Amino acid sequence: MTASATKPVERTLPTDEARELLALTRDLAENEVRPGAAEEEAEAEFPREVFRTLGRSGLLGLPYDEQYGGGGQPYEVYLQVIEELAAARLTVGLGLSVHTLSCHALATFGSDAQREKWLPEMIGGEQLGAYCLSEPQSGSDAGALKTRAVHVEGGTSQTKSVGEYVVNGTKAWITHGGVADFYSTMVRTSDDGARGISVLLVPATTPGVSGAAPERKMGMKGSPTAQVHFDEAHVPAERLIGEEGQGFGIAMAALDSGRLGIAACAVGVAQAALDYAVGYAKEREQFGRAIADFQGLSFMLADMATAVEAGRALYLAAARRRDAGLAFGKEAAMAKLFCTDAAMRVTTDAVQVLGGYGYTQDHPVERYMREAKVLQIVEGTNQIQRLVIGRTLTR
Ligand SMILES: Cc1cc2nc3c(=O)[nH]c(=O)nc-3n(C[C@H](O)[C@H](O)[C@H](O)COP(=O)(O)OP(=O)(O)OC[C@H]3O[C@@H](n4cnc5c(N)ncnc54)[C@H](O)[C@@H]3O)c2cc1C
Repeated sequence: MTASATKPVERTLPTDEARELLALTRDLAENEVRPGAAEEEAEAEFPREVFRTLGRSGLLGLPYDEQYGGGGQPYEVYLQVIEELAAARLTVGLGLSVHTLSCHALATFGSDAQREKWLPEMIGGEQLGAYCLSEPQSGSDAGALKTRAVHVEGGTSQTKSVGEYVVNGTKAWITHGGVADFYSTMVRTSDDGARGISVLLVPATTPGVSGAAPERKMGMKGSPTAQVHFDEAHVPAERLIGEEGQGFGIAMAALDSGRLGIAACAVGVAQAALDYAVGYAKEREQFGRAIADFQGLSFMLADMATAVEAGRALYLAAARRRDAGLAFGKEAAMAKLFCTDAAMRVTTDAVQVLGGYGYTQDHPVERYMREAKVLQIVEGTNQIQRLVIGRTLTR
């Protein structure tokens, strides 16, 4: 039994173009992304070259406007691309989701002039972004962030007309921290709580910006998660996205969409674990027959498959609301909550299906289980998703 012995998921897709895109993605996933996943995890090596391959195939700007070089794809299609990539290698599926998240502020709230200037290179395939909201002291309570940006007049000859921000502080847990080309950064421009937050689009080459050593994580070791330090970093004021004080709303809007990406990642990991467990159960024999023939085990597989399908249906329903221009924040939180909890259960059960072998690194299911755990934490823990859902019900 090998991890690559999986049947393609039968998908409902809106156009022939989308069907071709998913076929291309599946091909890339099997040939370029899945091979090397275990080695990347063992060696904690960031697969930058894989992202270049995705970039060359046009996958790093899928949901953004074609006018700026994006793919112009609806979310229901973009998310299924993420799901396929995450099933092959979570660091890649999640990396694509985070990159898309980091472009959201500029693409959605930037001025036309800002979009024309920076968006094509950000989504064009060569660059990779990071989204900097969390700090060492503020995770769930993101509105309490402290990284300070002070506006000063003057600056270099290019920025003199609008001045610049001098940024000081530390961002924590940043996916692609230290390897990203740009940081979509939430900073404090006044002491007015969440209303004192603004967004700066910071090039990674800015003097004073540096990534720390990556955290030593339980899983997803090939995806660097690191603190990013801002030490007297001078950022031209033209890189302010939206207006001063709008940053918290911009950051939360990005997260509504980002959570759908996490939900799709979770379904991908769960699908990979299910496929592996089914293949193993058909081959492994005990008491003279395949363990898949035991009802106790096939019921477990049936529950796993049902959870995967339900998760896919839920994130797609939320995505279709987004594509139709309807409010989707509550549904995105529900999808993130349900899909990531389902992925945790499904991957844990996949280990159980393999028995002792499931607990070894000879099979990928223990990695899937470690990977599923982080999805319950990132982009708002599942407690915070319940808070978001509860608030929309009672307010
Ligand atoms: C691998 C990884 C990658 C990440 N990538 C990024 C990134 O790219 N960019 C970024 O900005 N951040 C990133 N994060 C940070 C992530 O978003 C935070 O870890 C998360 O929001 C939780 O914050 P915290 O870790 O400070 O936990 P805390 O906020 O300290 O929470 C601790 C516990 O308390 C619970 N809790 C807190 N408040 C409440 C409440 N009101 N009600 C009920 N329970 C509550 C939480 O659910 C959690 O169980 C990443 C984290 C990880 C682990």
